[in-house]
Amino acid sequence: MATPIKVVVAGALGRVGREMMYGLSADPDVDLVGGADPVAAEDYFDLPGGGGLVPLARSVEALFSRVRPRVMVDFTTAEAALANARAAIRAGVSPVIGTTGLSPANIEEIGRLAHEAQLGAVIAPNFAIGANLMMYFARIASRYLSAAEIIELHHAGKADAPSGTAYSTAKMMREARGEPFDRQETKKLTLDDVRGGDVDGIRIHSVRLPGLVAHQEVIFGGQGQTLIIRHDSYGRDSFVPGVLLAVKEVVNRSELVYGLDKIMGLGDG
Ligand code: NAP
Repeated sequence: MATPIKVVVAGALGRVGREMMYGLSADPDVDLVGGADPVAAEDYFDLPGGGGLVPLARSVEALFSRVRPRVMVDFTTAEAALANARAAIRAGVSPVIGTTGLSPANIEEIGRLAHEAQLGAVIAPNFAIGANLMMYFARIASRYLSAAEIIELHHAGKADAPSGTAYSTAKMMREARGEPFDRQETKKLTLDDVRGGDVDGIRIHSVRLPGLVAHQEVIFGGQGQTLIIRHDSYGRDSFVPGVLLAVKEVVNRSELVYGLDKIMGLGDG
């Protein structure tokens, strides 16, 4: 059996970071050697169910010299993720970044640093395998059906609307179709904004309610038929399998890969 990959988690005490600590520690191909979080008050992270103690530090730099990982999984903030990625690549550690909000210039810089160091790196705005499949299937359907709307549904605490996934799904669908979708015009609106936001002829509707996690439906309409592609995330553990896929693949790469779909081999659809 191959030696397990030594991995650390940046943002280990955050909402997603904690799920990563639990999920990565349960995989026999991974050796979870540490976590970093500025609010760490203890020196160790106590895994549930007697899973053991994992070293904790307040910064990734402190962790790199202490536990010498091969991969860093990052679910922090955009500012922290950029600084962490720079430090990781400098230390010969491959970053796997789920943190959102990195600018195109940030992504370009991480790509350049990875290329110069001949080191694999992954940035993926959505690590849910099912969500990536939903986007892939929507891209394929876009070639055949010319009318579509998206309903995305999220927990009430979500800061932004529409979700980044809904917006990029619409953009990918437009690209796959090669032309704007047929706009479904309504003659009379008796309530402002009731038809949602428009991206190249695709209406996006954002639902925010307590009890929801992250859900999206892409609805296509055609003559006498509809096609609905739906994905539901019921918890933050839904990101674990995609991150594990990226961790196991990044060690075989020597440059930046953007998007989990590339790791899944989904191509351009
Ligand atoms: P969160 O609960 O606020 O967790 C972020 C954690 O990172 C906090 O504990 C934060 O500490 C810590 N942190 C800040 N700077 C750090 C540094 N320099 N080194 C190490 N840790 C640091 O947020 P979340 O809900 O887990 O989300 C984290 C990020 O993941 C967001 O950008 C979110 O959009 C993204 N996300 C991506 C996916 C995906 O599939 N790609 C899925 C879900 C979420 P403080 O509290 O002290 O700031």
